[in-house]
Amino acid sequence: MTSGIRSLSILGATGSVGTTTLEVVDRLPGRFRVAALAAGRSGGRLAALVCRYRPEVVALGAPGEAERFAERFRRELPEVAIVGGPAGLERAATWPGVDTVMSAIVGAAGLRPTLAALEAGRTVGLANKESLVAAGAVMARAAEASGARLIPVDSEHAAIHQCLAGRRDPPVRLWLTASGGPFREASRFRLDAVTPETALRHPTWKMGPKISIDSATLMNKGLEMIEARWLFGLPPEDIRVVVHPQSIVHSMVEFADGSFLAQLGTPHMRIPVQYALTWPERLPSGIDPLRFDEPLDLRFEPPDRDRFPCLVLAEQALAAGGDAPAVLNAANEVAVAAFLDHRLDFPGIPAVVGAVLGAHAPREPENLEAVAAADAWARGQAREEVRRRPASKTPLPLAAPC
Ligand code: MG
Repeated sequence: MTSGIRSLSILGATGSVGTTTLEVVDRLPGRFRVAALAAGRSGGRLAALVCRYRPEVVALGAPGEAERFAERFRRELPEVAIVGGPAGLERAATWPGVDTVMSAIVGAAGLRPTLAALEAGRTVGLANKESLVAAGAVMARAAEASGARLIPVDSEHAAIHQCLAGRRDPPVRLWLTASGGPFREASRFRLDAVTPETALRHPTWKMGPKISIDSATLMNKGLEMIEARWLFGLPPEDIRVVVHPQSIVHSMVEFADGSFLAQLGTPHMRIPVQYALTWPERLPSGIDPLRFDEPLDLRFEPPDRDRFPCLVLAEQALAAGGDAPAVLNAANEVAVAAFLDHRLDFPGIPAVVGAVLGAHAPREPENLEAVAAADAWARGQAREEVRRRPASKTPLPLAAPC
């Protein structure tokens, strides 16, 4: 049953997916060897991981951080190679002997190492959203050329991957489930009075601030539609979203005869992270499974497009193609950061993204440089738009969101 010890490179080792990856490594002794650990900057947490897992290489992406780390730990860790900057992250992603790369660096810094891993033909567990949202065509070409395998880590794509595994009958539609975030029930909220504090309370998943806001606007689901297009190759119009507040069905595929396959489970990131690492094997995860000894209602409803304009904007970017998704993503990052910083109100997020997208003429990006240029243009435009919009208002008393 065992297929030998897998050698891992974990990019983004100190973040939430990186931490979950190491939990899986700890829970399945003898399965994995951690050959490479990479993070943005040094610090106590990374040092503790390096001492514990003794990788062959540690990479630090932020400038000057590798030097700082080497100064402190060179003597204690003489056998560990310490590399830095974007080139260092690429070395960690392509380290000799590594079978599987967990790509979990957050943001644009994850693009180059993910591309390098794909070009080197590694199996890539993909948690970095930008890789497919902003640079899907570039990544897909690289994987195609080298025969590298991309295994999605996000719960929705992991679900679809599982529903499609080993099948010859192609699906006619993909259904990504969305929890609907904390503002699903329209009548209870005035969206113009939403503050970062209320938006950060997500009903089912515990996540960082950026992704929590993206869940509240449904932009997260829009970005996932774009990722699904590259992972599964269906045309934009056959990638759909359905709101499912319980987050039990992680996504579904629909076939020509009207059959649907769904993947269900307790909402916990360790399940998809572990599956990406052990694929095609399945092993115990230690997460409490669903038990049907209590009534369990599963609700599905169409997303309210008036209430969630970010979803519509993502659909437009997906349909426009080329570098439009990169522009959407960059403008959204600027808008969400401004919202979290109380410089933009909640309805300002789609307003800013829509204005930037509306001013953009899509082009097919040839490489990561072209993607970066589109991204930089969109950020500049978005900053201008933020300056034109009202800042977030004094919070009104609201009903508890969940
Ligand atoms: Mg997701």
